[in-house]
Amino acid sequence: MQKILVSRCLLGDRVRYDGGAHGPYDLLQQWLHEGRVIALCPEVAGGLPTPRPPAEIAGGQGAQVLDGRLPVLTVEGNDVTAAFLDGAERALALVQAHGIRLALLKARSPSCGNLENYDGSFSGVRVAGEGVTAALLRRAGVKVFNEQQLDEAQHALQVLEREMGTPGAV
Ligand code: SF4
Repeated sequence: MQKILVSRCLLGDRVRYDGGAHGPYDLLQQWLHEGRVIALCPEVAGGLPTPRPPAEIAGGQGAQVLDGRLPVLTVEGNDVTAAFLDGAERALALVQAHGIRLALLKARSPSCGNLENYDGSFSGVRVAGEGVTAALLRRAGVKVFNEQQLDEAQHALQVLEREMGTPGAV
């Protein structure tokens, strides 16, 4: 069975920077029931507390953080790059340990966002970009979806299970 890496905050775990959570989402509950969810909050796994100050990447490009070209800064200007990189590495380790090819991560997070991110001005401005963990997983060949792409994620799972010849795939 294909396992899927899922952002913990999408499973109702109160690990968001502000102590909040998201969901429930029917599809994620189904995946949990099927035993295919590997849950992770990269920021908490990287050692950050909850709640914690919001953090953003200037220009919103997590790949540049991976390449050492940009830091992740909190709204107070503290450099939390090391924790973000550590969380991303932990996500990659889980992906490798479980043979994961798909991830369902929270949109617009400086760790988890897959298509958009905030621009580093802490003013709510969105740019095309991705979080640090999402960027590392994408580089490793993992298809990353967000909670607004549940249908696409389920379709990708079905295609993958068909390709792998997993019994029970639709
Ligand atoms: S978006 Fe990612 S890093 Fe942020 S709380 Fe959710 S799981 Fe943790």
